[in-house]
Amino acid sequence: MKQEFFKQPMTSLCATLCSFADVSAPQFAAPLCEELKDRLTESGGTAKTDRILMYNPDAVADYIYDRYRDKFLPCEKIAPVRQRFLTVYPPKTPVCFASMYTGAQPEKHGITKYEKPVVEIDSIFDAFIRAGKKPCIVSVKDQSMDKIFRGRDMAYFSEKYDDEVVERALELIEKDEYDLLCVYNQRYDDSMHRTHPNSKRSLNALDCYASSFVKLGEKVNTCWKNHDTLIGFAPDHGVHRMLIGLGNHGSNIPEDMNISHLYGIIRKHG
Ligand SMILES: [Zn+2]
Repeated sequence: MKQEFFKQPMTSLCATLCSFADVSAPQFAAPLCEELKDRLTESGGTAKTDRILMYNPDAVADYIYDRYRDKFLPCEKIAPVRQRFLTVYPPKTPVCFASMYTGAQPEKHGITKYEKPVVEIDSIFDAFIRAGKKPCIVSVKDQSMDKIFRGRDMAYFSEKYDDEVVERALELIEKDEYDLLCVYNQRYDDSMHRTHPNSKRSLNALDCYASSFVKLGEKVNTCWKNHDTLIGFAPDHGVHRMLIGLGNHGSNIPEDMNISHLYGIIRKHG
């Protein structure tokens, strides 16, 4: 069955995160996603959290998520609210992350193809800094998330690969210093480009994403128990299989444009 394009723009995420943090959204951010906000607070509790942990696993398409949902059930225990988003075009990593964290369309933030310049417009990181909060990005060295939000008065950690990124993030959660922690992983993206979206190696990469997110969630539960934390599993774009067999993304098709995010709130606890 042919999938339809999702309606809710991924650019609405940025203002939603800011609203939970009680921070004014960046200058060009699209209006927040009411549906996500409502669903996150409908089981009670305020729509405010003082910490945000964003796990950014590269290239998990919505249909891939569904096809291998069993792998992600432990993630849904931590972040039970699944939000479907339409990412931005072209669905390339730097374009999508620039939109995710500015709330703006590519023509506004300036990254419209696969290139990794520093984003000059207002971002969630600038918004947090203005509000006196401390953001931090942990990424694989020289990848989009490592490069495009440089130049802000904030912390950046560049690591060798996914496992080192997760190790660093666990250490930072334990240190309990940052209000917004973004953690980037890329193993599935690498694997599907070299093989295909359903290869054994790619499925192993999905397992790594799921177990990394669970580790981060458990660490937050242990080390940030004096905080209310919004935690998210938030890929940038999807993937399709080309006629020659390899995985790819960058096309205006539902396989590349439709993504599913997971969110949950870990409340303060004794
Ligand atoms: Zn990507």
